[in-house]
Order: sequence, then structure tokens, then C-alpha cells
Amino acid sequence: MFDLSDKVALVTGGSRGIGRASVEALAARGAHVVINYVSNEGAARSVADAVQQAGGKAEILQFDVADGGAAEKAIAELAKRHGRLDILVASAGIAIDGLLLRLKDEDFDKILSINVKGAVYCARAAIRTMMRAKTGRIVFLSSVIGEMGNAGQVAYSASKAALIGVTKSLAREYASRGITINAVTPGFIDTDMTSGLTEEQKAAMLTAVPLRRTGTALEVAAAITYLVSDEAGYVTGQALRVNGGMYM
Ligand code: NAP
Repeated sequence: MFDLSDKVALVTGGSRGIGRASVEALAARGAHVVINYVSNEGAARSVADAVQQAGGKAEILQFDVADGGAAEKAIAELAKRHGRLDILVASAGIAIDGLLLRLKDEDFDKILSINVKGAVYCARAAIRTMMRAKTGRIVFLSSVIGEMGNAGQVAYSASKAALIGVTKSLAREYASRGITINAVTPGFIDTDMTSGLTEEQKAAMLTAVPLRRTGTALEVAAAITYLVSDEAGYVTGQALRVNGGMYM
């Protein structure tokens, strides 16, 4: 099950966190994985090394997802180089938290540019190749915060709710071309993104999680592996919750 041999996958934000776990999970199933990052070349290289040491295939690819031209060029070149692009996992994302009255315009723009526009730019470039092949799989990283909101995360929740709309619109637009498009909505996952929270903040968040623990990047990657597999061929336009029951 979930055999990805001969598939080429691009994971944006594959250098760390959920992206990294997705790279390793897809490579373990046989995919050749292209690891995108923006600035952390050392981290991206160490993911590629880990994949190769485990007998898998991976390469690194730097570009800023928020730069539409750069994303388009990099993805077109990678599709040409490999002759295909079967899977896109759009994991690159940032969080800038703060109450509305303290929200800076530039932070609001930045979060929307990376989290929403960046994901759409990558999907647009990937879909060009997938349409020709009449098959493809795209998974966006939304969030439980996009579904239920959170005080102090207005910009982040706007960006993550937007991705659910993007998922549903693109799923409708490209179903007839054999491309499935889904989202995952993780809850509170242990990564660099959540490492800045204090123990008190973490404890407070966990009271809202029926499973009473944080999730792991591996657990999110497992859901992504399912969604990009052939076995998930009848699943499109969905937002799959991986949140310990935090939102049902
Ligand atoms: P993370 O550990 O902070 O890693 C972020 C990744 O995104 C890094 O690989 C980073 O690359 C890359 N990135 C950031 N800006 C980029 C840009 N402009 N262009 C290309 N790559 C860029 O994050 P994470 O926790 O794994 O989160 C991954 C995704 O899941 C995000 O979309 C996040 O919103 C979502 N999510 C996370 C949680 C959670 O609890 N952690 C929950 C729900 C949803 P560099 O290494 O080069 O900086």
C-alpha cells in the first residue's frame, strides 16, 4: 500500500518540521523527493543526506515560494529535468502572532504572501505539468486555526482558512484532469514553529486537546502520505484533520 515508486514529489518547506517528515515519509515509499527551502541550506542538505543514507532519492531546491516568478521557474525546470512532477506538498509557511490592534501591515502582507500566495504559485506551476500527464496529487498545509480561529492569530488564521477555500476551488477546477487536491489541518504539532511557546501556553492549549498531547510531524506526514497515494484516488477537496480531537 501507498507505493510511490517512480513518482517525483516536491515538498515546499521540506527542510524542517512537517515538511521534513513528509520528505522522509514519501522517500521511504519510493518517491524521488525535491526538498524546497528558502534560507536554511544546511537543514535542507541534512534532510537529503538522511534520505540518501536510508537508501532513498532526494535533492534540494532553493526558492522563495512568495516570489511567483522564482517558484514558476524552479518548478518548470524541475519538471523538465525529471520529465514529470506527480506530487506537490505545499508545507512552506510562517506564523506571526499578535492581537489585531498590534498587527503590522507588513506582517499581514508577509504571512499572506508566503502562506497563501506562495502555495497558490507553487500549485499553479505544478498543475501545468500535472495537466499534461492527466494525473497529480496536491496537498496544502492548512491548520486547525484556520477552522476554529484563535485569539492572537488573526493573520495566521486568515491565511490557513484561505487555503481551505483554495483546496476546494482547485479540487473542482482540476478533477476532470485527474488531479486530486486536498488539505491537512494539523493541530498542535511539535516543530520549530511551536517551540517558542512557554510551558504554560502549551499546558493551556493541551486542555483543549482530548488526546492530551501534542502531535508529531510524523503523524501529519502519515496523513499526507495517504492523500498523495494511488489509494486516495477518490478523495479530493477535503481537509483532513490531524489534531488529537481539538476540533471535530
Ligand atoms: P517550521 O518547522 O517552522 O518549518 C517551516 C518551513 O517552511 C521551513 O522548511 C522553511 O524553510 C520553510 N519556509 C518558510 N518560508 C518560506 C518561503 N518563503 N519559501 C520557501 N520555504 C519557506 O514549520 P512547521 O511547523 O513544519 O509547519 C509546516 C506547515 O504546517 C506550515 O504551513 C504551518 O503553517 C503548518 N502547520 C503547522 C502546525 C504546527 O503546530 N507546527 C500546525 C498546523 C499547521 P527554511 O528552513 O529555509 O527556513
